[in-house]
Order: sequence, then C-alpha cells, then structure tokens
Amino acid sequence: MGPETRDELLDAAERYARTVPIPVDFERIEWECSDRAVRRAGACLYDHRTEQVTIRLTWEAYRSFGWDEFTGTIRHELVHAWEFQRFSESGHGRRFKAKARELDAPRHCRSFADARLRLVCSSCDWEARRFRASEAVKRPAERRCGSCGSRYRVEHVESGRRWRTHAGYLVARRKLDGDW
Ligand SMILES: [Zn+2]
Ligand SMILES: [Zn+2]
Repeated sequence: MGPETRDELLDAAERYARTVPIPVDFERIEWECSDRAVRRAGACLYDHRTEQVTIRLTWEAYRSFGWDEFTGTIRHELVHAWEFQRFSESGHGRRFKAKARELDAPRHCRSFADARLRLVCSSCDWEARRFRASEAVKRPAERRCGSCGSRYRVEHVESGRRWRTHAGYLVARRKLDGDW
C-alpha cells in the first residue's frame, strides 16, 4: 500500500529518493506537499541566494497516479535537484535527458493532461490516470475502483478507445499500434 496522508507521502518520497542512484545533497533539499489544484505532478524550486532546493509534490497527482507511477515524478524532480546543485540551473535539455534516461525517469514534468490512460469507475466518480500499461491497465477485470470497489473501464485518452478486460486491452493495443 502507498502512503495515505500528506506526511506519509513526504516521508516515503524522501526515503525513496535516497535509494535513487543520483549524487545529490539531501541536507540541502526540502520536501513539500502542495494541495493546490496545479496540473503538474511535481516541481523543483531553487533559491539562488541560499542554494536551497525545494521539491514540491502534488497530493492530487499522487492520489491519481498511485505510488508506482509517482516514483517516476520523484526521479524526475531529483534530476532537477541534481542540476540545480551542480550547475545552478535546470531545464529539460540534453543534460537533463541523459540523466533522466539513466534513472528511467520521465523526461517531461508530468501533468494530469499528459496521462495516456484513464481509469473510470462504472458506478461512482472515481477516476485515475496512468502513463504506462500497468497491470491496472492491462487487466482491469482483476482490479476494482479505488473508491467504491466496483469495476472500472480503461480509456486511451487520445483515441477514446476503451476496454474492461485483458482481451479488450490486447485488441486496443493491436489496433492502436504506433498510436499507442
Ligand atoms: Zn521537469
Ligand atoms: Zn467507484
């Protein structure tokens, strides 16, 4: 089970971050949880005067992505932290991309709008986003809504294709092919 409160999320994020093989100085990184309805899953801020890095995680993004997906956001923000600490600047340029690839971190700051896949409950208003073909996406019949326990459907956001079973997933995947 993933963290269930904002404090747990910050603790888990910091603990997880220390297992990521990237040379950053954790003594100079602050962790924050944002409740604002921002579209970005995370942000990394830098104070040039104090050289303090702040990694801000978005609670709603964590709730909607789930912990496994969210660790990608943490790795992404760590690459920003690393660039800030080492070069006093950070962006999404070539250096960032190379480091992100090393850590299997997403190259773009993830936003809700970017999510390729949406899980939608059949009986309540629960909705979750996924970037990758996780088990929840591939085998929806074996899982349930995170809120009421009913079944849910998966939607491929760009094409609008939807499915509720593993067989349906395989069909959609084949039909979408390069447009996945
Ligand atoms: Zn970024
Ligand atoms: Zn539900």
